[in-house]
Amino acid sequence: MLEKENVKRNILLNPGPSTTTDTVKYAQIVPDICPREKEFGSLMKGLREDLVKIVHGDPEKYTSVLFCGSGTLNIDVCINSLLPGGKKVLVINNGAYSARAAEICEYYGLPHINLCFPVDQRPDLAVIEHTLQSNPDIGLVHTTHNETGTGILNPIREIGDLAHRYGAVFTVDTTSTYAMRPIHIEHDNIDFCMASAQKGLMAMTGLSFVIGNKALLEKSRNYPKRSYYCNLYLQYEFFEKTGEMHFTPPVQTIYAAIQALKEYWAEGEEAKWTRHTRVFEAIHRGLARLGFKNVIKREWQAGLVVSAVYPDDPNWDFDRIHDYCYDRGFTIYPGKISSTNTFRLCALGAIDEPDIRDFFVVFEEALQANRVSIPVMYNQ
Ligand SMILES: *Cc1c(COP(=O)(O)O)cnc(C)c1O
Repeated sequence: MLEKENVKRNILLNPGPSTTTDTVKYAQIVPDICPREKEFGSLMKGLREDLVKIVHGDPEKYTSVLFCGSGTLNIDVCINSLLPGGKKVLVINNGAYSARAAEICEYYGLPHINLCFPVDQRPDLAVIEHTLQSNPDIGLVHTTHNETGTGILNPIREIGDLAHRYGAVFTVDTTSTYAMRPIHIEHDNIDFCMASAQKGLMAMTGLSFVIGNKALLEKSRNYPKRSYYCNLYLQYEFFEKTGEMHFTPPVQTIYAAIQALKEYWAEGEEAKWTRHTRVFEAIHRGLARLGFKNVIKREWQAGLVVSAVYPDDPNWDFDRIHDYCYDRGFTIYPGKISSTNTFRLCALGAIDEPDIRDFFVVFEEALQANRVSIPVMYNQ
């Protein structure tokens, strides 16, 4: 039996991968197995069912499909696989991750409308409805739930309702809310949502999954095939026929995900969300005490990502602050807005309020060591 040692615990405040438990890390240390064995297939079956359960999907109506890759793969898969021939994609874009979806449309040469809204604003439902009305050929509407670049929460239930009223499929990038902020796939009007194992599930990188409506998936069987490796129907069909992934799965990552799911059910949806909220509020308190400004209005934040504006202090140097914290086990992350210089602190992962208290001790030291004045200063 392997000697289990504690692994150095780093507090990741970046927007994923997130801090994991040692039990999840060690779940990867298993005897070698060929993933084409029945034993492995039955593990994936349970995993797929659990992934649907997390978003309260009725197993008769919803299914999940696994892929080997990072979360962006899911956006690629959904968009290239779920657009009927002769139809157009509508991307509702108020941030970096929806912009990625628009780029995917460009790369595949898919007809699309990139409907942009300011990154610090919620999308305007009236404009969305008007766009749907004047473009009856829109077959797929896509947006991001928690726009991780800023932390803004988009009104997916309302957008999904509009998409459905105009006969379009609704795909939502829930990568940074799934298994954290509760989602009810049917009530939230989602046809397809997605995530990767290293964010809300607090497992390892390399496993991504799409959860969606079986009837719509079946319908996509005859849609134009735009990718070989990244086709949703092909992967689904292979799972249904054989219980296996079409190509080699990330074996050890799957063992870690199964352990992470056990820990997810043990903690419970509500308790987990309460914990993330506690961490999020502790981040806000810490930043407010030091005088940092928020990018997104507090009531619009999804409760997982805090975006703070760089102070105007000439001594502020993000990289130096980052390195100081990093050397002491805390990872902070730059923002993803082109117009403003920001950094992010996120409430993902197996962390709790005391970790944030410890972080702010180090962060304040980092400011002092760099002679950044406290409270931090802004020119306006
Ligand atoms: C993390 C994330 C992704 C996936 O990014 P990868 O770099 O491919 O892991 C996609 N969408 C959102 C909203 C995310 O937060």
